[in-house]
Amino acid sequence: MRDAAPQTVYLSDYTPFPWTVESVELHFTLDPHATRVRSTIRFVPNPAYVKDPDEPVLTMFLHGENVKLIWAQIDEMPVDPEVTATGLRTAVPDGPFTWEAEVEIDPANNTALEGLYMSNGMYCTQCEAEGFRKITFYPDRPDVMSVFTVTIEGPHPVLLSNGNPVVTQKHLAKWHDPWPKPAYLFALVAGDLVAHSDSFTTMSGRDVALNLYVRPGDEGKCAFGMQALKDSMKWDEDVYGREYDLDLFNIVAVDDFNMGAMENKGLNIFNSSAVLASQATSTDTNFERIEAIIAHEYFHNWTGNRITCRDWFQLCLKEGLTVFRDSQFTSDMRSAPVKRIGDVIDLRGRQFAEDQGPLAHPVRPESFQEINNFYTATIYEKGAEVIRMLKTLVGDDAYAQAVTLYFDRHDGDAATIEDWLKVFEDTTGRDLTQFKRWYSQAGTPRLKAEETWAGDTLTLTFTQHTPPSAATPAPQPYVIPIAVGLLGKDGSEVAPTTILEMTQATQSFTFTGLSARPTASILRGFSAPVVLDHAADHAHLLAYDTDPFNRWEAGRTLARNTLIDMMLNGTRPDPAYLRGLQSVLDDTRLDPAYRRLMMALPTQSELATALHDAGHVPEPDIIYATLEALRDAMVQQFQDVLPQLYEDNLVTEAYAPNAEQSGMRALGNAALSLLTRVDGGKLAAEQYDHADNMTQQLAALANLIRAGRGEAALKAFEAQWKDDRLVMDKWFGLQVNEADPEDAHEVAATLTKHPDFNWKNPNRFRAVFGSLAMHHAGFHHASGAGYELLADWLIRLDPVNPQTTARMCSAFQTWKRYDPARRDMILTQVQRILSTPDLSRDTTEMLTRIAAP
Ligand code: ZN
Repeated sequence: MRDAAPQTVYLSDYTPFPWTVESVELHFTLDPHATRVRSTIRFVPNPAYVKDPDEPVLTMFLHGENVKLIWAQIDEMPVDPEVTATGLRTAVPDGPFTWEAEVEIDPANNTALEGLYMSNGMYCTQCEAEGFRKITFYPDRPDVMSVFTVTIEGPHPVLLSNGNPVVTQKHLAKWHDPWPKPAYLFALVAGDLVAHSDSFTTMSGRDVALNLYVRPGDEGKCAFGMQALKDSMKWDEDVYGREYDLDLFNIVAVDDFNMGAMENKGLNIFNSSAVLASQATSTDTNFERIEAIIAHEYFHNWTGNRITCRDWFQLCLKEGLTVFRDSQFTSDMRSAPVKRIGDVIDLRGRQFAEDQGPLAHPVRPESFQEINNFYTATIYEKGAEVIRMLKTLVGDDAYAQAVTLYFDRHDGDAATIEDWLKVFEDTTGRDLTQFKRWYSQAGTPRLKAEETWAGDTLTLTFTQHTPPSAATPAPQPYVIPIAVGLLGKDGSEVAPTTILEMTQATQSFTFTGLSARPTASILRGFSAPVVLDHAADHAHLLAYDTDPFNRWEAGRTLARNTLIDMMLNGTRPDPAYLRGLQSVLDDTRLDPAYRRLMMALPTQSELATALHDAGHVPEPDIIYATLEALRDAMVQQFQDVLPQLYEDNLVTEAYAPNAEQSGMRALGNAALSLLTRVDGGKLAAEQYDHADNMTQQLAALANLIRAGRGEAALKAFEAQWKDDRLVMDKWFGLQVNEADPEDAHEVAATLTKHPDFNWKNPNRFRAVFGSLAMHHAGFHHASGAGYELLADWLIRLDPVNPQTTARMCSAFQTWKRYDPARRDMILTQVQRILSTPDLSRDTTEMLTRIAAP
């Protein structure tokens, strides 16, 4: 069945559902092509639904897509509802009633991976945001919450659903979830799976059984994820006072999954790439990401499940908060400055680009066509930044009190951003009306800082300006928490960090009683998601800043400035930057992971965003070449110390994916990649031969490719790992990542002909095309071949998997910043995709928004 005509949904149109659902019983009889789902649903008139008392609601609409209705009855009397492509409408009694229906669905042909589908012979579900309607007819909206009892009949050894098991027999299982939940948290899994089991004793002494279910063969990749789960459970008790609330917590790994993972009540479902880990097959980066995603999904049990969202416009209520919580967790488990710097790099790379282009939207959007298109960096990452600012403004104690009030007041609710802000207002007595603009306006504010010095007084004058966008044509000033510290000439701290609270378009703050003019360190810890423009003494800050984030930021700013100077004015790399960097690298008191981040140059896309911000047209080839030139200059500058840096960071103890060891490997591999520029890959070849873990093996392979010695190593790697899907994803992705910009599109095109290029698997598709889209100079090749290749494949994928297709369309979102020739070529491809017959609503919405004039 085809998508219905696109319809725009507005936040302002919200009305409650006319009924509440008292209970849901589901009975699944599994069959690959003809699964039967019988539902028994008790509806009761909703007192919160304001209706005309003289006009009873006599018909009910239930969502339903791609489900074949076999029969239906109300209060045991057959009914014959009117069924359309989006649901059904039926006459109903004026009072409580029981709806029963049987439908048939086809999981084996469900390639969209939404609803009930099959992956490698196992059944699994993905219902967020609106996938439950592909399982049966239901009021599929998050404010309709109910208690579910689920029976599953099928020939599989493992049959799982939410909650606690009630009956477990051969080929039949019955589950009961006592916690009322919206349908998007429903889950079902059936398959030939093995469990890695453990247990956790909660703070009140209850024992919770924990299982990580995987396909036979993956048992050896479960231990790390299980430990991450136990660490998360403990952390949420210690830091937020939140205890787990069922006797059982299950996680299942599936190979075909559109996103990272899903927080279904008591039955989390994970993309196998987001949970399976081992020394031989996973990089340090994989381990850290897995730990963070397990924490994220677990934390949703309170922020998302116990308190859910009233409607999908409130998505950031659970996602922004949960991302913020998982970032706190990672900071506590690993290094807080390293985590913060990584998050800011990511925010600038993805969210700033989104906010700068045609897809810009507020953290709480006001309209959408396809909600799946709003699982964005703005809602997740900027949403987390907004909560971070709130905490900075009210302070740690008030934050803890407000969040506790939120849990007490709203447990069991489907809540809104208004509810969230109200607990902060009630706790602190603050008026958050202006702060709320962070939720309602799109765009990244520019914050200009100017200094004047007179007598013993430093005056900082800030001006904020947010570029207008289609989503927010006339942005009003924000409340901006600006963390500032002052440093003396000798590097000593003259004034510790204080928070300046900016509320006006222009505002001054003074520091008096100073004996000499200090160096101001502004926006410490990246205290607000803004673009800061401050002509500071960055070299001094790089040498002395006591705030680790701003010390790194000073180096980053110098790097960006020198790169932009090289591009626009043909200058040579700034020796002051290289000297400053050298002194940080030489400082072995600093954490290796931190020194590694110091060495990392801004990404190509970050530079393109910065150039566009400064009113220039980014030229991908020049950006690429300039970064290469700066790297060559770094090799010249550091040549003598690089071999030692490499040696010093070789880990001699047994492999562990902890912060300390991964920092050393990261720094050592940064040294390796500079050394490869001069040794032709000699050291990389040695590392490849001796690697006993994937971090070292993959880094060596990347360097061998760059040194032009990749061919044999890629063959060997493929022979070694051909049966491991997750490692083969790396093999596919790396070849595109490391390709010369001249032939990145050809490398991608060649990979699509490989017998293992299973393009219907989202991980594999993304390995090739996500990598191509992220290869800035390769994707934006002047011929337009990169654009065309991606468009060809998006056209092919759309009828199979609209969600993954639509997400990948964001590769085109930055088109407006390029030169007219590239703009034309991108728009031509966008139009070509748009003119494809029967294009999905997901892809249509994304590309229509991208191409909007
Ligand atoms: Zn989430």
